[in-house]
Amino acid sequence: MLKVRQALLTAVQRLGDRVDAEVLLAYALSKSRSWLIAHADDLLSAEHASAYTVLVEQREAGEPVAYITGRRGFWSLDLEVTPDTLIPRPETELLVEEALERIPISKTVNVADLGTGTGAIALAIARDRPLAQVIATDASADALAVARRNASRHDILNVSFVQGDWFAPLGDQRFDVIVSNPPYIENHDPHLNQGDLRFEPMSALASGEDGLDDIRRIIRDAGRHLLPEGWLLFEHGWNQGEAVRMLLCNASFAKVSTMRDLEQRERMTMGCWSVSKDCGSS
Ligand code: GLN
Repeated sequence: MLKVRQALLTAVQRLGDRVDAEVLLAYALSKSRSWLIAHADDLLSAEHASAYTVLVEQREAGEPVAYITGRRGFWSLDLEVTPDTLIPRPETELLVEEALERIPISKTVNVADLGTGTGAIALAIARDRPLAQVIATDASADALAVARRNASRHDILNVSFVQGDWFAPLGDQRFDVIVSNPPYIENHDPHLNQGDLRFEPMSALASGEDGLDDIRRIIRDAGRHLLPEGWLLFEHGWNQGEAVRMLLCNASFAKVSTMRDLEQRERMTMGCWSVSKDCGSS
């Protein structure tokens, strides 16, 4: 019989990643990662040991940990994740932070999240701004089912979900804040054939020759769905900042600015649907 410590050591050697090895063992045992440390000398049952081996093999074959466990933490939420949804990334929390700065805590504000996937961004905003009314769209019915389950698991009631492409299911509604983490990778980017991206829905990742097809559509239609002084905020690739600032300025957005992520890469850009259409960009 193997001890927890030995099983972990073997998995770390196979996977080359201690966190992955711990997350998968914790999942196999239905325990927390801190439990593993406190019980390093416990013996694993044969069933647990063989269940763990299967998980380690799945990971060795490249499957993302979040799809194996079906969970991923984002903001303050533990979210269900399936292969129908993009896996929420920590850098997308920057988009949530910037959106929250533009949503007063004591006012009812209408927010739209386009292409919500797991619901990560919509649910983080709805949780932290209980007075906000959030509508989240997604073209995929399967993704929306996951997002709805995430909302009900966390008892978040001020969010609703509608199916359709970008603004299509929103009729002529207007919003104070529109957020999106759209697909933005170039169709031929070799990264699409590497790592976790191989397992994620292509429709949530790639967007035309220059990766900007969906961002162009969102910017084109956003003006028809923003209230005066409303904000559009979206994530993009590290090398797309200049192009998206230009797109926003050309579409008459004001106060256009880009934020960098913790690795100092341009990660998200926002603009204000201003009545006085001066484009001060930075
Ligand atoms: N941030 C993801 C990546 O580059 C892509 C997500 C997206 O296209 N929205 O791995």
